[in-house]
Amino acid sequence: MEKINDLLVIWQTKLNIAAAAYSNLQVASMRLQGKVALVTGAGRGIGRAIAGLFAEEGAKVVINYSRSEKEASSLAEEIKKRGGEALLVRADVSRSEEVEEMVRRTLERFGRIDILVNNAGIAIQAAFLDSTEEMLDKTISTNLKSAYLCSKEVAPVMLRQKRGKIINIASVSALAQRSALLNTPYAASKAGVIGLTRSLAVNLAPEINVNAMCPGVIETDMTAYLTPEMRRMRIEETPLKRTGKPEEIARAALFLASDESDFITGEILTVAGGRG
Ligand code: NAP
Repeated sequence: MEKINDLLVIWQTKLNIAAAAYSNLQVASMRLQGKVALVTGAGRGIGRAIAGLFAEEGAKVVINYSRSEKEASSLAEEIKKRGGEALLVRADVSRSEEVEEMVRRTLERFGRIDILVNNAGIAIQAAFLDSTEEMLDKTISTNLKSAYLCSKEVAPVMLRQKRGKIINIASVSALAQRSALLNTPYAASKAGVIGLTRSLAVNLAPEINVNAMCPGVIETDMTAYLTPEMRRMRIEETPLKRTGKPEEIARAALFLASDESDFITGEILTVAGGRG
C-alpha cells in the first residue's frame, strides 16, 4: 500500500512538472507577452479583431471606442474571461483633449505603452463632384488627424521607453485609382495616413517603428453598404477572388506589433488579396 502511495506521489509530481513546463511554453510562445497595446476604434470590426488577437498573444489591451460602448465592453469581458487584462476608454480620437485623457488613463493603469494601433476611421461614400467641404473635414479629422494626435501623445512615452511600435491603418483606396473612385475624401485621408507614416518613421527612429497597413475589402460594418453587384465587382477585381476578414488584418498587424518586425519601419503592408 505504502509503495502504491509513493508511486502516486511520484506520478503527481511528474504531472505537475509537465503542466508547469507546458504553461511556460505557452507563455513563451505568446508574441506580445507583457506588452501594452492601445487600439483605437476597438469595439467593432478590424480594431476589435486586432485587440482580441493581441490579448490572446499576451498583451494588456486598451480598448478605445467612441459610440460602441456595448460592443467594447463585451470585448473587455471576453478578454478578462480568458485571463487577460483590458482597459476600456471612451474617447473621440479626433479631439486632442480626449486623446490626452485616454493616454493619461492608459499610463495610470499600465505605466507604459508598447504598441499603438491607429485604427479608428470612417468612410463617407462620395465621388469627387458629389463630395462637400464638410465631408472632407470630418473624414480628415477622424482618419488622419486622429492618427497624428494619438501618435503625438504616445511617441514621447515610447521614446522614454526607447522602444515602441506604431501601426496606422490606411487603405488600398490611397493606392489604387479604381478603389478611390467613389470616395475622394476617404482616399485623400488615407493617402495622408501613408504620408504621416513615412514622416513619423524617420522622425521617431531608431526607437520607434512606424508602419502602415492597407486593407482591401474587409467584411465589417464599413463595407455593409455594398450591394451584391458591388461586392461581386470588387471580388472580380481581387486576384484571390474573395473579400477579407478582420482576423486576417489582425494577423498581419500582429506581425508588425511583434519583435519579428524589428527591422521594418516606414513600410506600407497591403493586405488585400492582390487588389490594388
Ligand atoms: P467599422 O467596423 O466601421 O469600425 C470603425 C471603427 O472606428 C469603430 O470601432 C468606431 O468606433 C471607430 N471610430 C470612428 N470614429 C471614431 C472616433 N472619432 N473616435 C474613436 N473611434 C472612432 O470599420 P472597419 O472596417 O473596422 O475599419 C477600421 C479601419 O480600417 C478604418 O480606419 C478603415 O478606414 C480601415 N479600412 C477598412 C476597410 C474595410 O474594407 N473594412 C478597408 C480598408 C481600410 P465607435 O463605433 O465606438 O464609434
